Amino acid sequence: MTRSWRGRGARFILTAAAVLSLCLALFPIPTFASPPSVISPIPSQVELVLNPYEHVNWHETGHYKGNLHTHTTKSDGRMSAAQVIDSYKALGYTILSITDHDNMGSTPLPTWPWEAYGRNPEHLGMLAVQGNELSYHNHLGSYFSDTSGRPRGSVAENLEAIGAAGGLAIFFHPGRYHSPEAWTWYAPYYLQHPRLVGLEVYNQGDRYPRDRELWDYLLKALMPHRPVWGFSNDDMHLASQIGKNFNSFLLEDLSKEELKAAMIEGRFYFSHQPGSSPAPVIRDIRADGEAITIRAEHHTEVYWISMGEEIHRGGTLFYQDTPGLGSYVRAVVVGEGGRTYINPFGFTTPPSELLLPAALLQEGAAAEAPGGDGASRQEHYPLHTRVSGGHPILYRASAALFFLFIPASALICWRWILRRKNA
Ligand SMILES: [Zn+2]
Repeated sequence: MTRSWRGRGARFILTAAAVLSLCLALFPIPTFASPPSVISPIPSQVELVLNPYEHVNWHETGHYKGNLHTHTTKSDGRMSAAQVIDSYKALGYTILSITDHDNMGSTPLPTWPWEAYGRNPEHLGMLAVQGNELSYHNHLGSYFSDTSGRPRGSVAENLEAIGAAGGLAIFFHPGRYHSPEAWTWYAPYYLQHPRLVGLEVYNQGDRYPRDRELWDYLLKALMPHRPVWGFSNDDMHLASQIGKNFNSFLLEDLSKEELKAAMIEGRFYFSHQPGSSPAPVIRDIRADGEAITIRAEHHTEVYWISMGEEIHRGGTLFYQDTPGLGSYVRAVVVGEGGRTYINPFGFTTPPSELLLPAALLQEGAAAEAPGGDGASRQEHYPLHTRVSGGHPILYRASAALFFLFIPASALICWRWILRRKNA
């Protein structure tokens, strides 16, 4: 009698435990997962930190065509200053710098002012930029100051002098002196001389195509903190060399101050136009937190280059999602009449995921996985690793086993005690 009661009780407890376990495994149970927590405040996505066109109002800003490398009979050019000025005026140029060599001619003075050669820039509707080509070493374009009377000096000394005079400088035709691999020769000058604003990457048509490679090496090393703007100049000595290379400055008005500011900010684009049909003209460049879009005329394709490699084709670059994007991107707009280049945009990219402990990343990936696109989001937000209550199915299975284990072991103990008592 007692024994059959005990047997029924045992069966009841076992059945109840089994049903409870089944319920736990099948039906939802409330979980108290902690909210996602941000492990680190370090920026987790690509951030656009340098946009040379940020302040351009594309509906109102003027595009002023300029050449910043020109010679006359005052050094080794074949045309007089007046003929040179008239020729550029006739082609629609509004900005011109005559940059005769400082080591040639009877008097080593800049071809300046234009009035000395019978031309008044104001009457012509042009901006005359005082210029000079410092030619005792790697040639330097010097602007907005008179540096021609200087004694021979090193590159560093000349850059110091240009800076002290409130001028600006760019390196002319670097390919004449160095291969792109010698970029380490150039980089320190950019780091030490803030008035050195750029590099001529097109010279007299395209005499040194590898100068764009040098540009990429320098951008790779210096961006986004120290931009190097690209320039395209005729380096004109003969009439046949006029108009193949030009810079289009985006200015509020045609003034020395505005041009200086645009040269410092990179607020211009530049073209190589070998024939008579027009090179692409930029109409608009827009950038936000996701993309950069270029709208142009006379063009067939837009190429985007980062770290010396082509990373995308098309008018819009979604930089958050483009593999290969590094600390800068520059675009080449190609058309039947030539090529137009925009100045580089600068980015900071998130630090490598390997900086985080691998276990933490795995935990983050597991927490993201049930969401479906967790894997792709993890790529963009590597540092926002989620910490939650763990995997729900595993959690429920272990709870079920636990509830089955307690009554089963209680039952075994009870039967063992009864057996000892009866014995
Ligand atoms: Zn020259």
